[in-house]
Amino acid sequence: MEIDGLHLVWLGHAGFKVKSNNIVIYIDPYQIEEDEKADIVLITHDHYDHCSKEDVEKIMKDDTIIVCNEASAKKLGVQAKIIDAGKTIDVMGIKITAVPAYNIGKEFHPKGYGLGFIIDIAGKRIYHAGDTDVIPEMRDIKDIDIALFPVGGTYTMNAEEAVEAAELIKPRIAIPMHYGSIVGTANDAELFKELYSGRAYILKKGL
Ligand code: ZN
Ligand code: ZN
Repeated sequence: MEIDGLHLVWLGHAGFKVKSNNIVIYIDPYQIEEDEKADIVLITHDHYDHCSKEDVEKIMKDDTIIVCNEASAKKLGVQAKIIDAGKTIDVMGIKITAVPAYNIGKEFHPKGYGLGFIIDIAGKRIYHAGDTDVIPEMRDIKDIDIALFPVGGTYTMNAEEAVEAAELIKPRIAIPMHYGSIVGTANDAELFKELYSGRAYILKKGL
């Protein structure tokens, strides 16, 4: 998808590639077919479907900067810029903010375990929610152009809950993710699109 010079590609599951002004950012690459090298890789948490050493190695070059928490850096066995929820760092002129992502009433992602990210790039703000339920901290997330919400359920929000999150944050464009590979199906993405009062796009993998 192309929005005002910003290129956004869904790589399947929670994986995305964002490209602008020749800077290539990947988020949670998993089972990817992409071979374009990364300038920046963001990892939300150390679960195998988000923090995949094999996939990160496919897109690494000498000066790729990896941004993640301590646990993910350890799992990847690489040098990384360590970030925790509430922190913002500047990488290659791009502002990257880590925000909380956790479950409520499920044990997979306790508070503090993983991250969501807000990326300020080329005048746009992209929010990747990570593996999360609807959490009160989402009320503080504002002025988002593109938001990526998990809809698969079980480990994260399901489609209806993701709609609640989207109604709180009110991004200009909402995109469902975290379906089609481990949990969730295309129906969950469709349901999200149908129920959300704002604009939602369903991305085709690889485009
Ligand atoms: Zn997870
Ligand atoms: Zn996950």
